[in-house]
Amino acid sequence: MSDTLFGKIIRREVPADIVYEDEDVLGFNDISPQAPLHVLFIPKKPLATIDDARADDALLLGRLMLAAAGYARAQGVAADGYRLVVNCNAHGGQTVFHLHVHLLAGRRMHWPPG
Ligand code: 5GP
Repeated sequence: MSDTLFGKIIRREVPADIVYEDEDVLGFNDISPQAPLHVLFIPKKPLATIDDARADDALLLGRLMLAAAGYARAQGVAADGYRLVVNCNAHGGQTVFHLHVHLLAGRRMHWPPG
């Protein structure tokens, strides 16, 4: 199990506002929301970055994306739209090295991102 902050959230050693959980995926509100809805979806398997994922993680990655999309639909933000973001390593702006998908919704997003 990952010894990162998010590993501790999975093990309930660090509190988080958990809004989604299934066998493979946990979703919790970002502590510093960048949109009215900002949820982080993480695999319970401790992959540090998307660069660490391999072919046998394909099903898990699919479940991760579907969890985020399903949550957005359930929250009623899918029709207006939303953004899913995966930051990878330094240039991607990744700060927590347990793979996570940001779900950002509730406002119009800008492009290109900063
Ligand atoms: P990254 O920059 O790695 O893509 O995203 C890490 C995210 O984790 C950031 O959006 C940051 O606000 C969030 N975060 C950092 N520490 C905590 C925490 O203790 N609890 C929660 N819920 N989110 C956190």
